[in-house]
Amino acid sequence: MIGPTGQSFDVLIIGGGITGCGVARDAAMRGLRVALIERDDLASGTSSRSSRLIHGGIRYLEHGQLHLVHESIREREILLRIAPHLVKPLAFTWPLYRGARVGKVKLGLGLLAYQLLAGGRSRRHEMLNAAQTIEREPSLKSAGLTGGALYWDACTDDARLTVATALSARESGALIETHTRVERLLLEDAKAVGVVVKPRFTGVSYDVRARVIVNATGIWDNQFSEAVPVKKASGTKGAHISIPRERVGNHNALTLISPIDGRVMFCLPAGSQAIIGTTDTWTTESPETVHASRTDVDYLLRSANAYFDRAQLTQDDVVSAWAGIRPLASAAATNPSAVSREHAIVTDSLGVITVTGGKLTTYRAMAAEIVDRVQQSLGQRRTPAATDAIALPGANRDEEIARLQAENSDLAVPLVEGLPYTGAHLVYGVQHEMARTLSDLLIRRTHLAFETRDHGILSARRVADIVAPQLGWTEETKSARVREFELDVERIFAIS
Ligand SMILES: Cc1cc2nc3c(=O)[nH]c(=O)nc-3n(C[C@H](O)[C@H](O)[C@H](O)COP(=O)(O)OP(=O)(O)OC[C@H]3O[C@@H](n4cnc5c(N)ncnc54)[C@H](O)[C@@H]3O)c2cc1C
Repeated sequence: MIGPTGQSFDVLIIGGGITGCGVARDAAMRGLRVALIERDDLASGTSSRSSRLIHGGIRYLEHGQLHLVHESIREREILLRIAPHLVKPLAFTWPLYRGARVGKVKLGLGLLAYQLLAGGRSRRHEMLNAAQTIEREPSLKSAGLTGGALYWDACTDDARLTVATALSARESGALIETHTRVERLLLEDAKAVGVVVKPRFTGVSYDVRARVIVNATGIWDNQFSEAVPVKKASGTKGAHISIPRERVGNHNALTLISPIDGRVMFCLPAGSQAIIGTTDTWTTESPETVHASRTDVDYLLRSANAYFDRAQLTQDDVVSAWAGIRPLASAAATNPSAVSREHAIVTDSLGVITVTGGKLTTYRAMAAEIVDRVQQSLGQRRTPAATDAIALPGANRDEEIARLQAENSDLAVPLVEGLPYTGAHLVYGVQHEMARTLSDLLIRRTHLAFETRDHGILSARRVADIVAPQLGWTEETKSARVREFELDVERIFAIS
């Protein structure tokens, strides 16, 4: 607990997405006194709306962003090593059709470059003929198929990677407060010396002082920075849909080029679901309420149907749809897909360090750069931490959940038939993963809300009953939490 104790920190981080949690972990491992304040839940912003890929970003090669690809591949390999329970290798098939924008030669050269940039760290890609491509992914359209390629990247659970990073920061001494909003900066002699925070559940504001403030609020960064790096017109919106995997029939991941506008998109395996995404369009929508529109869903279905011609997916197949806004460091390009996913770090006249842009994949490297800047502001010499060598926590989660189920068989009952989530997952989320609300549990510690057509609404009351003793909820609190969850579901999963 941070609380109104008059404690002072070396660094205070605003925002508990992957960027803020990465900074907290790195700074705490360097021995700094660290506080992180998140107004909602860890990963409640963009960090739970990604494509869940830890990838080199093969499509960035088309835009000549070799540095980003090189760094991303290096970070992918580090995350595979330090978080094998959360980051797993994923095989991608890229099918090639007659007349496609990316042909065999271009793809072959791209994958060769991808391999070379990996410097031998990556599994080798293979070029496939049409029969081999269909053998790998039998639900693909065969008419016009000339061949394809198999290559490797990795996938993750974005929200739980963020939570694990926060837990690792906490293990190194960082204090992390969720459901607590930073209302404003505390200024003395025109310098930021702390923040005023307001916890959601008590409503009583207090001050927290720190020598350096890091603004890691992603798409909300202009709240606290006098000098957002470039004038940001807007971000780009990315929507995903999930469809029962049996309807799509994909075995692994596929990289597809939308026949509508030639963009690279993915069809990804996610348990019993296939996730198709994303769109990439400039938006001025509020990041608080950003959600998929009918046009987004239609674009994704039409693009997928061009490849899975027997499935002929319709709106009725869509289990859920959601969207996020990419915090981009540069808004210079007119084509949203060509905007660099690199990041920018700026210290403004108040002394606040703001970071904009970046990717889930590169968060660890980005965090190290930010903490170098923090140490510079503190007048310290740079003392890099071994964040690439120390494992992220949570590797024993499955065992712990099995233990809870063995101790109490009620906790072994699936919350929803056909999905792997049980009461034990909820209890574990509260005891070990800082979950405090139903949205924390059903949207981010499990993916129940993404994987059911009711988004967990029908399970919410039972879930509240299960976690109430852990969280000290009365009947009144339970009802309030269920109502808040329903509002979150409407905010995130509505299609309109
Ligand atoms: C559609 C889409 C797909 C993507 N896919 C991938 C992918 O597959 N792989 C990849 O590497 N990257 C991907 N990305 C990029 C990646 O998701 C983002 O770069 C990353 O999640 C941004 O994290 P962040 O911590 O900077 O921002 P956020 O996750 O948005 O975190 C900012 C946090 O600040 C908090 N906050 C805001 N204001 C306050 C306040 N006043 N007080 C306290 N807290 C506050 C918010 O609640 C939020 O939790 C994707 C992005 C999108 C949109």
